[in-house]
Amino acid sequence: MTTSDWNQALSDLPDRCDVLVVGAGPAGSACAQVLAQGGPRVVLVDSQVFPRDKVCGDGLVPDTHAALRRLGVHDQVMRLAQSASAARCVAPNGSFIDIAGELAVLPRRELDALLCRAALAAGALMGAPARFVAPLRDEAGRVCGAELSDGAQTRALRSRWLVLATGALPNALLAANLCQRRSPSGMALRTYVRHPGMVDDLRQLRFVWHRHLHGGYGWIFPAPDGVFNIGVGLLDSREDDDRSARRRRGGSNLRQMFDQFLQAEPLAARLMREGEVLGGLKGAPFRCDLTGAMWSRPGLLVTGEAAGATYSFTGEGIGKAMETGMAAADALLDHAALVPADDITSPASATRSDEAVARDYHARLEALLPRFRTYRQAASFNRWPWLVNLVIWRARHSPRLMAKLGDVLNERRLPGSMLTARGLRNLLSP
Ligand SMILES: Cc1cc2nc3c(=O)[nH]c(=O)nc-3n(C[C@H](O)[C@H](O)[C@H](O)COP(=O)(O)OP(=O)(O)OC[C@H]3O[C@@H](n4cnc5c(N)ncnc54)[C@H](O)[C@@H]3O)c2cc1C
Repeated sequence: MTTSDWNQALSDLPDRCDVLVVGAGPAGSACAQVLAQGGPRVVLVDSQVFPRDKVCGDGLVPDTHAALRRLGVHDQVMRLAQSASAARCVAPNGSFIDIAGELAVLPRRELDALLCRAALAAGALMGAPARFVAPLRDEAGRVCGAELSDGAQTRALRSRWLVLATGALPNALLAANLCQRRSPSGMALRTYVRHPGMVDDLRQLRFVWHRHLHGGYGWIFPAPDGVFNIGVGLLDSREDDDRSARRRRGGSNLRQMFDQFLQAEPLAARLMREGEVLGGLKGAPFRCDLTGAMWSRPGLLVTGEAAGATYSFTGEGIGKAMETGMAAADALLDHAALVPADDITSPASATRSDEAVARDYHARLEALLPRFRTYRQAASFNRWPWLVNLVIWRARHSPRLMAKLGDVLNERRLPGSMLTARGLRNLLSP
């Protein structure tokens, strides 16, 4: 499939479809694929022409692998990715542990292109560039499609349902009147460095906490072909309102934090000194904790990072973006009357179907909330480096704690219980 095959011009898209999915990141593509496999006519649009870059650490953690398997693309992804068998967590005092898990790294330019192609192979159409401008509404105020723009022209595309999978930037949420928090939950930046000579030194996904990285952490992730993704992220775990979040983050300078990372982590310094830096440092925001946006309104679902589906503490969100995108698709396939808007004969049955979709989708997201809440609690580790020293020291002496941490990474149990008085007592007891 060539680039032009899969980025259809806005003017070539049909006038209507059953589901219009906006945003072809992992959430939107996963949603579009599952929907298209179920039969509805799906149009997927993105403001950017694919393949496109996305600022990310590119780390594929266990929940991502599970989602890729459900989509049937895991083998394809792993043929391109660099696999790794452990996450190395380095404490401020330099000690470390390796937590085993199914891990890999694949630049998002390739991962997202593959996911988007899988949606197209399932029968979805892809339109790009096509920026979501605003939702269309019928006389009753129900969303029934979107106004889209390619920069030169704006046109309407009517749909029975609209799914917003527009990521961490709030613009689309604001245009749809669904944004509850404009400011991000955190920020991160990264660059790529090629250094084939360091492949043996950096086989794990390396997470580094340090007192100079207060409020966040640094990472070095080994990508394919001797390339490394290196970056720093600032993730805040406290209750946020727009004003206080801006105030706190106003003083933080991520570039300065990146320089501090190079001072704190000798492997990062060596990588940057000896390696070939591929492109500059690029930053992007996070939306975390399943907060910050309404999840639905009649005719519309919000999914992926737009719905806050990225973990605070680690900033990981590719897996949960796909999971929530598929949850949106499942809710629609199970409950929506997926017929063109004009074919709806009974407004009452349409309302019942809208309510059933929303109820089902909300229940699926709510089932994820305990995990997001405990990751939010665990984000305190980013503020208290001494706690990381303590946990890593303890884990090095306790196979039981190592097993627990492995269960957390592999999503077999919830993290966070260590942050209660009882949890700390358990941690310190033999
Ligand atoms: C620096 C950094 C490092 C990270 N590292 C990791 C990591 O290692 N592992 C991990 O799991 N997660 C990581 N994340 C989080 C991860 O990037 C997100 O959780 C994930 O991209 C969310 O997927 P999504 O599909 O919801 O949104 P996105 O991937 O952001 O996709 C949204 C899409 O919507 C399109 N769009 C936006 N607005 C419009 C509009 N108005 N009209 C049309 N299209 C629009 C965009 O062009 C984009 O293609 C990191 C994030 C950052 C910032």
